[in-house]
Order: sequence, then C-alpha cells, then structure tokens
Amino acid sequence: MRPLIAGNWKMNGNQREAARLAEALRGGAENADLLICPPFVHIHQVAALMLGSRVAVGAQDCHAAHHGAHTGDVSAAMLRDVGATHVILGHSERRTNHGENDAAVLAKTEAALTAGLIPIICVGETEAERLSGLADSVVEKQLGGSIPYGFITAGGIVAYEPVWAIGTGRTPTDRDIAAMHATMRTALVERFGPAARTTRLLYGGSVKPSNAAAIMALPDVDGALVGGASLVAEDFLAIAGAV
Ligand code: PGA
Repeated sequence: MRPLIAGNWKMNGNQREAARLAEALRGGAENADLLICPPFVHIHQVAALMLGSRVAVGAQDCHAAHHGAHTGDVSAAMLRDVGATHVILGHSERRTNHGENDAAVLAKTEAALTAGLIPIICVGETEAERLSGLADSVVEKQLGGSIPYGFITAGGIVAYEPVWAIGTGRTPTDRDIAAMHATMRTALVERFGPAARTTRLLYGGSVKPSNAAAIMALPDVDGALVGGASLVAEDFLAIAGAV
C-alpha cells in the first residue's frame, strides 16, 4: 500500500509562512502520498497553491452539523468547498482541550463522509493508561466508538497517536507500535471485514527524519501523522523520503 505522510500544522504560521511551506512541498514525494493540514484560515490559499500538484490539503477538525447556528465553527461542506479533501478528527488536543468524546468524533466523522471528505480518526492512550496495561483496551474502545459504517469503503484513515508521544520527542518502541497497529488491524477487520485490510493506519507522535525509516518499515504502519516536523519542509520531505 502506498504510504501517506500527513502534516498537522496545528495553530502555526501566518499567510506568508503557509504559502512558503506549501510551495516547498509542491513537488510531492516519490514513494508516498503527501497531505498537509493547515489551520482553517489558510486552507483556501494553500489548496489553491496545491492545485495540479500531488499534495492533498486537509483540515484539523470540523463541526458535526452541515450549517446553522454554530458560532465560530466550520462545517465539513465548507472545507470541501475551499479545496480540502481530508479532515483530522478526534486529535488528542481536541479530545483534551475541547472535551471531544468518541460520540462527538463519530458525529463529526459522519459529517465528513457526507461532505465527501476523507476522515483521519486519531486514537491513542495516555501515559498512565499505557503504564496500567490499558493501552489496547483504550484504543479498541476509541475505535469502536468513533468509526461509523461507510468509513472503510470511503477510504477513511486511522492514526495511532499515543498522547504521551505527541510533541515530546518520545515514541513507543518499534515493538509496541507494531503491536498496537496489529491490534487495530484485527479490530477493524473483525468489525468491517476484509476491506479493512487496506485501511491506512498511520503512526503519529514525535515522528522525525531520524526515526521515520524504522517506524515506516513496521508491519501495518501505512504512513505517519506528523506535527512539529511538518512545519519544516526539509524535515517533512525527509520523512516522506524515508518510507
Ligand atoms: P508531533 O505531533 O509530531 O509534534 O509529536 C503529532 C500530532 O499531534 O499529530
């Protein structure tokens, strides 16, 4: 399966920086698909810059409703309209800072699918949960509660992002990453059937050029969701070049 390297820019950059970073990535990568997810306000500009390139543009969140009285929110249809093709949902920063639970992620994922966006659902345990031996059950519960029917056939993507590995420079061992990806694959195939064998499972959390090759070589790791290192074009391309 061709890997996907996705960049989550989070709340960083102004218009000029967004344009410069996007332009530096325009050529894409030889062995991987690239996706960049700028903040809402830059999506329109970045998507226009990426027209005709092999780099897709996505968002970092959307609302579960299609339109209406939701001050400050952005719908999946609006994102599609300005050129986004993907949307990250249920990132741990959304779950923690905005109280998003699995039911909320499920509703947003359904809205994304209705609007024709490819959802990237993020799951992952906290450090306390891993230390208590609960990592597998936490991730299985998140998968069970946030993935709607239709997700697999629409090309939905899952990202395993251990909360304690995000922005910390720490990653699970290769063995632990491979084990969790196998657990996720099994859970998805059990629920959705053989079609889930081709669902892309990304790893995220402190992916950088120096560890990308080892992580990307693991079974059932079909790409990466990259935060900090996606803000530096050379680093992001180096990660994509390591697959
Ligand atoms: P990081 O973030 O690469 O900076 O650890 C990953 C993410 O939050 O998606």
